[in-house]
Amino acid sequence: MHFRAASGAVLWFLFAAAAAAAEAPPQGAPPLADSFPIATDSLLAGDDSQTRFVLELSRKIDFRAFTLADPYRVVIDLPQVTFRLPPKTGESGRGLIKAFRFGLVMAGGSRIVFDLTKPVRIERTSVAETVPGGPARISLELASTDRESFLHRIELDNKTTRPDDPRPAPADAQADARPLVVLDPGHGGIDTGTKGPNGEMEKDIVLKLAERLREQIEKSGKYRVLMTRTDDTFVPLADRVHFARNENASLFVSIHADSLPRREGDAQGASVYTLSDTASDSEAARLADQENRADIIAGVNLKTEPEDVAGILLDLAERETKGFSLQFARKLLADLKIVTRLHKEPLKSAGFRVLRAPDIPSVLIELGYVSNRADLQSLLSDAWQNRTAESIARAIDSYFTTRVAGARTGAN
Ligand code: ZN
Repeated sequence: MHFRAASGAVLWFLFAAAAAAAEAPPQGAPPLADSFPIATDSLLAGDDSQTRFVLELSRKIDFRAFTLADPYRVVIDLPQVTFRLPPKTGESGRGLIKAFRFGLVMAGGSRIVFDLTKPVRIERTSVAETVPGGPARISLELASTDRESFLHRIELDNKTTRPDDPRPAPADAQADARPLVVLDPGHGGIDTGTKGPNGEMEKDIVLKLAERLREQIEKSGKYRVLMTRTDDTFVPLADRVHFARNENASLFVSIHADSLPRREGDAQGASVYTLSDTASDSEAARLADQENRADIIAGVNLKTEPEDVAGILLDLAERETKGFSLQFARKLLADLKIVTRLHKEPLKSAGFRVLRAPDIPSVLIELGYVSNRADLQSLLSDAWQNRTAESIARAIDSYFTTRVAGARTGAN
């Protein structure tokens, strides 16, 4: 996120300035975007007892590799890399590797996540320059192992101090008393979300909509807006919730675009989802599973996710939050109906991990289906995006206006 990057840069500068004791200007300014190492090619070799992965890079870098269970994965963390790999790279695998994904997980950090066919042991990792001072090659060698040894290895790794998954920095104190709306563009970085027939990506569509929505909400001057991501970075699901809670948000709006597998026919239109323990129908259950997979896709270790919500689940507060979420969801649909097509059953609920803040009314909007031609055309259109952002902003305003009025009359 931009504001975090900025404060990091300031801290770094202060530190560097103090260290240099004003004798010399600080060395090593932050690298320019085009100066990141470039990944140019990859290779998979071997079989299901031993598999090797090789990545060709424009220059040498350090990396670390570790394993994750359930599902079996191997993760490589590297400094930020620009991936220029051939199309479809990673969509199919070989030997112990079923498929893999790559992309940014945070500013300055890239990641490759391998889905495995069975438990593995990381036999060897290496980095070598193919030409001194020039291009380099990193390699990862995997060997098949049993589940027990696989899990034992993870336990040992967790005991040694491994840097945590990236988490948002705690919020700066805010003196601004206006209600805060947190917008949550789904997916990002390594996790592309759903994809259209020509590679159109959910993560890009929803970021654009969220940016437009922020503008619309801020226009009135009545609300503050923060976004869980403002660029093409991956943010784990729990961090999105932490972020909203740390910042003391009054409303959380997660933005997504759905897709239906071809064999399941065609569906179209926008839907709004709220949180529930039991899904309202099988389609809602499928969608929640799909959206909740974001962390698996990006190689987040679910086992180490702190259960920050446990213990504060005051039944009453939670029930009240659910009521407000539903109230807002209904307003949203009433406004959205004017500007866009709705799904035939537009109000649903399921166990979305990103809606789990017990004290913040939260909804998840599926703008439409990237698998449907007409919907995709809308999703990619500036006019449709503007119209939709305006209508969501209107619903947000009317939600807060009603809440304030309700609080004044004691009706709530
Ligand atoms: Zn999504």
